[in-house]
Amino acid sequence: MAKGNITVHTENIFPIIKKWLYSDKDIFLRELVSNACDAITKFKKIYGGEEEARVDVIVDKKAKTITISDNGIGMTAEEVERYITQVAFSGVEDFMENYKGGDEKTRIIGHFGMGFYSAFMVSDVVEIETLSAQEGVAPAHWSCDGGVEYDLTAGARQKHGTDIILHVTKEDKDFLDADKVRGILEKYCAFLPVPVFFPEAGAEAGPQLNDTDPLWYKKPSECKDEEYIELYRRVFHDYNEPLFWIHMNIDYPFDLKGILFFPKLTHEFEAKEGVVKLFNNKVFVADNVSEVIPDYLLLLKGMIDCPDLPLNVSRSYLQNDAKVRKISAHIVKKIADKLTSLYKKERENYNRYWDDINPFIKYGCMRDEKFYEKVKDILVLKTTKDRYITLPEYKEENGETVYYATSEVYQSQYINLFKEQGIEVALLPMMLDTHFVQFMETKHEDIHFKRIDAALDSVKTEEELSDAVKETDEQLTKVFQGVVEEGVKIQVETLRSEELPALIILSEETRRIKEMSTMMGASMRFAFPDDKTLVLNRNNPIIAKMLSLDEEKQALIARQVYDLARMTNEPMAPELMTEFIIRSNKLLGLLV
Ligand code: ADP
Ligand code: MG
Repeated sequence: MAKGNITVHTENIFPIIKKWLYSDKDIFLRELVSNACDAITKFKKIYGGEEEARVDVIVDKKAKTITISDNGIGMTAEEVERYITQVAFSGVEDFMENYKGGDEKTRIIGHFGMGFYSAFMVSDVVEIETLSAQEGVAPAHWSCDGGVEYDLTAGARQKHGTDIILHVTKEDKDFLDADKVRGILEKYCAFLPVPVFFPEAGAEAGPQLNDTDPLWYKKPSECKDEEYIELYRRVFHDYNEPLFWIHMNIDYPFDLKGILFFPKLTHEFEAKEGVVKLFNNKVFVADNVSEVIPDYLLLLKGMIDCPDLPLNVSRSYLQNDAKVRKISAHIVKKIADKLTSLYKKERENYNRYWDDINPFIKYGCMRDEKFYEKVKDILVLKTTKDRYITLPEYKEENGETVYYATSEVYQSQYINLFKEQGIEVALLPMMLDTHFVQFMETKHEDIHFKRIDAALDSVKTEEELSDAVKETDEQLTKVFQGVVEEGVKIQVETLRSEELPALIILSEETRRIKEMSTMMGASMRFAFPDDKTLVLNRNNPIIAKMLSLDEEKQALIARQVYDLARMTNEPMAPELMTEFIIRSNKLLGLLV
């Protein structure tokens, strides 16, 4: 019929595209399958009909082809000329324009706009067999090798619709692997609005690959809990059920649909736990697009579908786009609203969830002032009394110092001392809490946080000391000086409990600086010595009596008491543990 020339400015445009897109070749399938869906949607709009709409993706390993076939609206030869050779190509030119000087940062999100021509990323030759649904038109056949020339001839298709046939290049032959193709389709096409099929090699039919009616397009009132849970498990391969979720479905002032799940934490929180999938009209674009979704939300799992987002622009543009900011702010507001309503209406559930959601909330507060403002009144402290109370509630009951423990194991002795005195201790066991404590102190100038092993004043009594007591203290100090490392201070006090012979007290400030520097990198760690004090308890019978024993026994007891104090403060080094065990056995030997 015709031989034509694609109007090109750069003759070797395709090799350049191929090179640029190398890392993201998969998207050709998304583009072609979504074109097929578009064609079917157009057909239905104009012709309606009962006919089963479907897209089939067929891999022929022998012929080295991938065919994407639809029974949509099809194209006349003239339309092929117009839409494929002219329009689609201008898309490529825009794309090139955007991509110029494209480093990682300015990359175009998901390469929207590449459209049809992305087929050439993996093909030597691309063919189109198409028949328009219009009455009395002839089928057309188009073929192009990615150069500037194409052939447009009479086609063979008998039924309306289009086949796009990709002759896969040698280098890209792994795209002829069925598992690979299935994987890509599942990633990008799982929620396309038209049934997509990918039959196994040789099989006539296969199961439908996609869910054409994603839950987030429905009204929240029409969705059942089981459906959310099923979707969550299917998409995120998480056996656990999500704790709860937020379903967003709004049309105005922008089009935003999506579901965000709060996952159950399985181990201590790590930066990127979750996955938020960004969709554009049911077409998957990318995971965790931090330009659109604040980074702390990436601890959640879910999907955000936002047809309004200008996804074919560069990432740096997105960061500064007013609409993106509004959408992002809206999502944050929805989350804060949901949390607040849980707190107000389902306080028990809120408390139950707190252990899992607190890293997210705390991280969010520190990252985003607006989020903090919205949730500051619903931040709670979990305490050793198994309560969840707000900071003002804590202050009201316990005063301006918030005593906290970072480990129920290593600080159990201290926790007991505090319990005996009826002081409630907050549990802040995570790495993140170190930062959060600092953060809360900047927000509440009247409140100070003190780890319980820094709070000697709360566990000792004040008293006038007689000369005889002072004398004994000095002797005790001497004995223990022979046992502790350099730099460890020794202090004798009357603790409020007689159970413990000794306690380690660490300065809150020094410990915090050390923790911070450790988090920033171990190299700075040794620059800060511990500010460590061994506090001996006059009230304890061992301490009270040990000076009456011989020197050898005194030293033995001092070592043991020091080790026990250390063990109740931090994990013990292997050599020390060995020594401790040998000594303990020796002590037992004294009993027999
Ligand atoms: P876009 O989809 O953004 O319009 P594409 O490059 O993907 O850009 O496609 C260009 C045009 O080619 C489409 O707008 C459509 O008119 C036509 N087209 C592509 N694929 C098909 C198809 N399978 N059936 C009918 N028309 C198609
Ligand atoms: Mg397209």
